[in-house]
Amino acid sequence: MQFKSAYLQGVYDSVCKRNPHEPEFLQAVGEVLESFEPVVEKRPDIVEKGVIDRMVEPERMIMFRVSWVDDNGKVQVNRGYRVQFNSAIGPYKGGCRFHPSVNLSIIKFLGFEQTFKNSLTTLPMGGGKGGSDFNPKGKSDNEIMRFCQSFMTELAKHIGPDTDVPAGDIGVGAREVGYMFGQYKRLRNEFTGVLTGKGLTFGGSLARTEATGYGLLYFTEEMLNCMKNDSIKGKTIVVSGSGNVAIYATEKATELGGKVVAMSDSDGYVFDANGIDLDVMKQIKEVERARISEYAKRVAGAEYHEGCAGIWGVKCDVALPCATQNELDGESANKLIANGVIAVAEGANMPCTPEAINAFHSNGVLYAPGKASNAGGVAVSGLEMSQNSMRYSWSFDEVDEKLKGIMKNIFHASYDAAKEFGLNDNIMAGANIAGFLKVAAAMIAQGV
Ligand code: GLU
Repeated sequence: MQFKSAYLQGVYDSVCKRNPHEPEFLQAVGEVLESFEPVVEKRPDIVEKGVIDRMVEPERMIMFRVSWVDDNGKVQVNRGYRVQFNSAIGPYKGGCRFHPSVNLSIIKFLGFEQTFKNSLTTLPMGGGKGGSDFNPKGKSDNEIMRFCQSFMTELAKHIGPDTDVPAGDIGVGAREVGYMFGQYKRLRNEFTGVLTGKGLTFGGSLARTEATGYGLLYFTEEMLNCMKNDSIKGKTIVVSGSGNVAIYATEKATELGGKVVAMSDSDGYVFDANGIDLDVMKQIKEVERARISEYAKRVAGAEYHEGCAGIWGVKCDVALPCATQNELDGESANKLIANGVIAVAEGANMPCTPEAINAFHSNGVLYAPGKASNAGGVAVSGLEMSQNSMRYSWSFDEVDEKLKGIMKNIFHASYDAAKEFGLNDNIMAGANIAGFLKVAAAMIAQGV
């Protein structure tokens, strides 16, 4: 990557040198550094204090063995990770991902992004991320429980309600958080808000399940409203993925008057011209934990197509990538553009490749980066922490109202920062800068 600023070039080159086999981490860092060109020009103090040099190196990285016994009595070994990226503005905060693709590069990119995202929420949370290369697919409930217990047995040594507060991500939902919470409590004899995304009977927050998907739509609605004087109403929408984020994005999109015509999983996608029947989808994905191909067998007129990337060939006004990193490449972006897409907002973390983002920017498509548009999940996690500290709980509507306010605020902070630094309508650069400036101020104040 080439930078105008020699300083940023130096930072980027040293990150590349220090982390040679970490493509996802380098991609995330490169994208952020690119948006800092006007910042380093305007703010020599940030350069002088080495803030950016420090921010690209995690404060702490923990890797550990997770051994567990499967249902056949065989010993299995996985690797666990927790990257405590930045604690300048609050305790480390971020989810855990259980997926066979997980490696240090992926956890580092997620932890790096999380730092900016959490700052944008305006709540006091630093950035962290964890996970394992454990594959939950096809595992029994008992195997999941034993794995979660073993994972937490080590993780517990490094976390705490005022130190590091993990939560869910891909492969980690309420069930896994419950098993991990139980193990933490057994080990510590402590009932605290050490994890978020907990069940409602033991300190979880109402609206946490819906938060990422709902928040994505609140952000998108605000962006369409402010930048195009438009709204979700009457729009045809494509949502990739069929996990927690995708399901609640579809729910809110439908409630706002949009029609979601396609959803996917890692094997393929379904197209339903009548609009996705969310009750059927929830039964398949949340209750049965089955494949999305089932949907086309149960809903008349729906089609199933092999291959998840094909979903970007479906004509739509708004595309919401809610599956995983780099799922939408330059070629897919060009298909969306040719079909007249107006806006793309990320529900997943870094789902669009740099080529896709460039294509959107140069064709006047509104583009919302995940660290801004999917921040609703961690925002409500922050609200769960607050409720746990108060030993109190807010109603669904109270949390939902706060979430709406936070998402609108994130849009405006990003939009305003883009304008202030002369970046026009580049919400991605604006989000990077707005998220960064708060963390930078705290780092400067706290010394080297
Ligand atoms: N995994 C989610 C994210 O990427 C939520 C993290 C949390 O709730 O701490 O932001």
